[in-house]
Amino acid sequence: MSASVSIRDRYPLLIGGRHVETDRWDPVDDPFGGADLCAVAAATPDDVDAAVRVADAVGAEWARTPPTERAIAIERYGRVLDEHAGELAELMHREMGKPLPEANAEVARALEVVHYFAAEAERVLISQLPGTSITTGSLMRPAPVGVVASITPWNFPVALILWKLGPALAAGCSFVAKPASEAPLAAWRVCELAIEAGLPDGLVNCLTGDGPLVGEALATHPKVAKVAFTGSRRVAEQIATWAGPRLKALSLELGGHGPLVVLPDADLDQVAEVALIQGYANAGQACYSVNRVIAPPNLTGEIIERIDEGRQKLELGPMATDRGVQRHMRLIEDATLKGATVRGGEAVDSRRLEPALVSDAEVGVELIDEEPFTPIVAVMTNDDIEGAIAEANRPDYGLVGYVCGGDLRRTLQVAERIECGTVVVNGWRVVTAYAPYAGWKGSGVGVELGRPGLEAFIRWQHLRVLA
Ligand code: NDP
Repeated sequence: MSASVSIRDRYPLLIGGRHVETDRWDPVDDPFGGADLCAVAAATPDDVDAAVRVADAVGAEWARTPPTERAIAIERYGRVLDEHAGELAELMHREMGKPLPEANAEVARALEVVHYFAAEAERVLISQLPGTSITTGSLMRPAPVGVVASITPWNFPVALILWKLGPALAAGCSFVAKPASEAPLAAWRVCELAIEAGLPDGLVNCLTGDGPLVGEALATHPKVAKVAFTGSRRVAEQIATWAGPRLKALSLELGGHGPLVVLPDADLDQVAEVALIQGYANAGQACYSVNRVIAPPNLTGEIIERIDEGRQKLELGPMATDRGVQRHMRLIEDATLKGATVRGGEAVDSRRLEPALVSDAEVGVELIDEEPFTPIVAVMTNDDIEGAIAEANRPDYGLVGYVCGGDLRRTLQVAERIECGTVVVNGWRVVTAYAPYAGWKGSGVGVELGRPGLEAFIRWQHLRVLA
């Protein structure tokens, strides 16, 4: 650990541009061990109400601000975030253990998203559809949905809030953030920097505290128009039961079970690179992970060898939570008991794990059927392409898939049959600000990033002009 950022003793709520103290404070655990890092304010339903009401009032003004002015203000905010990129990465490193190079990369990519949506904000324009004369016809007005409640997890604490905040501000919405209790600090600072960057007080608010308590108060609040959530399916279903009957807009970005389909003419160096980077990034605590490498029988041995060689050279950061470590151990035990071959996967210390490579695991082994969310890559064999595609699409997930193949035409034909919102062809980089990121099937509802990710914060108004 080489971080030098200073951690404050206490992080209050951010409501209406002010720091708000609370009666109760929650400790933030140090993933590197030792004493708690600090304490964050524990919001109550009254705090939620206060934050939403101020967001609603300020949001009405922001919605009326011309798009070009909104764009300038968001770009200014983006530049302030740029100036604090190192600080945000260090906070993230300290609070959830992500190695600094990975934390820096997350922040850099996340800030690209803010600049992208600052530019998009200028293009939130009214358009005119043809009428019989210049004074008649239809105006299509993109109005903001209203107050957005954002609920985000700990694994990408900066990226996942900014994927929501950037487009929400660009569309003209106001924002109430609820970051994860395990890693609230970098997300909190993202919100505080909105105030320091001169965005209107109350446009961006931050409530730390108990997930179910704050989550229910947000998802049931009459003035919240949209809940934008990233996290587990279990919590997504709960949020949907609150927000659904109240007819709120919802986006739910959930987990994945990433297949990497290897075609017979694939470059095996590339296959190993994709599996190693995307299988073990963030110690496997990533929704876009490669979980299953699905390969033809004659290539399986060579692929296992190459991944295993790379795997042994990797040193992972600590798991963000004890329950992640326990889950990993349980998954490895289940696979072993069911006859799979497991390479690595041991505990290095109480929070650090060796990356695991699993082979000979079939359907029915938990890590083959359920998202591991720990550093495990499984290599599976399939006799033909149709079988490989069927296996790729088998689990009820559809976030990110990968295909490696030599003949690009054939590779793309396979890629478009993978039932995932994102399919990466011959490489490992998944996310870019200008392209939509969506979970299909059990991986979610709605979309983030790209132009569709902006329109997700817009409600259309048709002004039918019959002069
Ligand atoms: P959780 O779903 O447990 O938590 C996510 C957020 O929801 C946290 O802010 C949490 O607050 C809050 N929360 C918890 N319980 C409730 C509740 N009952 N009502 C409302 N909010 C609640 O997920 P994890 O933190 O465990 O994150 C891991 C999961 O997220 C994995 O399944 C992973 O795949 C998925 N994920 C998906 C991504 C995507 O883009 N599709 C990206 C990253 C992760 P608190 O921390 O206070 O409990």
